[in-house]
Amino acid sequence: MGRINVTRPFVPELDEFVDEIRPVFESHILTNMGPVYNRFQGMLKDYLNVSGLSLFVNGHMALEMAIQAFELDGKAQGKGEVITTPFTFVSTVHAIARNGLTPVFCDIKKDDYCLDPDKLEGLINERTVAIIPVHVYGNICDTYRIGSIASEHGLKVIYDGAHAFGETYRGTGVGNFGDATMFSFHATKVFNTIEGGAVAFKDQRYTLPLHELKNFGIHDEEHIGAIGGNAKLDEFRAAMGICNLRHIDECIAARKKVSDRYREKLSGVDGIVLNPLREDIRYNYAYMPVYIDPEAYGRTRDDVYKELKRHGIYSRKYFYPALNEIDLYRECPGGPTPVAHDVSMKILTLPIYDSLPLETVDEICGIISAKGRYQRK
Ligand SMILES: *Cc1c(COP(=O)(O)O)cnc(C)c1O
Repeated sequence: MGRINVTRPFVPELDEFVDEIRPVFESHILTNMGPVYNRFQGMLKDYLNVSGLSLFVNGHMALEMAIQAFELDGKAQGKGEVITTPFTFVSTVHAIARNGLTPVFCDIKKDDYCLDPDKLEGLINERTVAIIPVHVYGNICDTYRIGSIASEHGLKVIYDGAHAFGETYRGTGVGNFGDATMFSFHATKVFNTIEGGAVAFKDQRYTLPLHELKNFGIHDEEHIGAIGGNAKLDEFRAAMGICNLRHIDECIAARKKVSDRYREKLSGVDGIVLNPLREDIRYNYAYMPVYIDPEAYGRTRDDVYKELKRHGIYSRKYFYPALNEIDLYRECPGGPTPVAHDVSMKILTLPIYDSLPLETVDEICGIISAKGRYQRK
């Protein structure tokens, strides 16, 4: 078995991509919200079933600029706090901090690793301006409870939906919850544009600010209305997106087969706890997390990580360490986060992607089941 990584980006047939970029070469319009960008934006808006969508060069800048567009900093005169969780990719917390806001850490739930609404209200004070929960691994946050707490306190909710592309919760596209949702189209995500991202939003008043912020805040040839940056998705990446969107449903179906196989093979292993799947969520099978309880399993998460690596299988300690345990954010306010700490120490994400052969899944499960006694056939 050659090296198996935790993910392997989907790519279309080269000819399909060439057909899509031929008009870009012919037109010499390479970027700056050109025709391919606009076509792709419309197609994605339909696919995600959202009322507003703005494309970005990556998910991180999409989130940073969504925060900026909501002018959260202005509202709190530079002292605003944003509640999020320490169990996320560092991008979420950087996006808050880079907007001049203070991240406040809330614990997560043990069953789905998303923000725990029971722990939320105690962290809200007069400086709180927003909540940025994360749909971890494609598990959907308790959007209804978070929404009602937020509206009671007049707070904005922006979801980090980097893991949740194309999912629905109780039949609603996941990009419709809260004030906005960020999606990432990074190569390693379920749907990729090589690098890319988007903000889905409800209130049409944000269409123009988001559009201008990604292009230096330029309003028109003679007016610059905001301190923007450069976060435009170019025509080539948009073309990649158009190609990959044609295949996304097949990719998700193939991921489901991989996920089903893991669940079949690992469900009986003592000490291996699988993320329960819910009936009311249509999943994208973005990740395959396993929680390894060292007491019951007999070995630790790090043991499994190393054992898999010895066999050329590169799983990920995703997310480790918890972000309120790294020097940059250790001093940030928040509640106790024992669940986030525990999960970050015991979770491992296994390889999952559309082209992962089921025989490889069987081999990975064999290694995990054997608890260090695995012999190659
Ligand atoms: C990937 C990811 C991001 C950042 O997205 P990019 O497109 O890589 O900039 C943010 N948050 C989470 C949870 C992610 O997984």
